[in-house]
Amino acid sequence: MERLSRTLQTTLFSLLGSCFTPVWAGAEHCSDVPVQVHSAHPVEMEDLCQGAASALRFLEAYGVKPIRIIDIDIVDSVSEHYGNKALGSYDVDKGRILLMSMQEMTDTRAVSTLYGQAFDRLHYRSVVAHEVAHALFHQNSPKARLTNAAQEYLAYVTQLAVLPAERRQLIIEHAGVSAWESGDSISEVYMAMAPEQFAVKSYLHFSGMTDPAAFVRVLLNVKWFYVYVP
Ligand SMILES: [Zn+2]
Repeated sequence: MERLSRTLQTTLFSLLGSCFTPVWAGAEHCSDVPVQVHSAHPVEMEDLCQGAASALRFLEAYGVKPIRIIDIDIVDSVSEHYGNKALGSYDVDKGRILLMSMQEMTDTRAVSTLYGQAFDRLHYRSVVAHEVAHALFHQNSPKARLTNAAQEYLAYVTQLAVLPAERRQLIIEHAGVSAWESGDSISEVYMAMAPEQFAVKSYLHFSGMTDPAAFVRVLLNVKWFYVYVP
């Protein structure tokens, strides 16, 4: 009986609690990855969960693993990022991903092309993967607030890595740049001016390294605004 009344109490409190927190109608969990999605409207979970799972798989190979659950808030719009139209963003203070739904992006024509290709589900999943990489970076880096260039490097590498190889190849050809070279500085300034080229330079650099896991450790511990390429 005591257990029953406690259960009733808990139910009552959570019902009451939900009355005072009207922002999100509910949270849905991905079945096989530690990701929960909060949305005021019903949302297609498959692309979100698949996109997140692909990022987790990719980054786990370099020792970057989730420490706690990753929260994704589905929003109607995302504010601009470095003057570029953004599809998603990571809220450092709240530790949450803000992302438009695939439906919303299509309906509002928030984006029609990405990297010179028609925007589709594969791109959407890669955008989810990009934001999940930011979340994992924040969970694993002691200096995550200061190091946007390091984070964006890893987020863009993840975004391109999870795409099918033939898609990625077209993106690399479209960007027309080569990998970051020894002595370069990977900077936010470059990223703000040329995000597509920043993504491709980072992917080519990362995939050409003999010990990428060591470089990921460098990224996670960078204390500056830029990353110097050794
Ligand atoms: Zn980013």
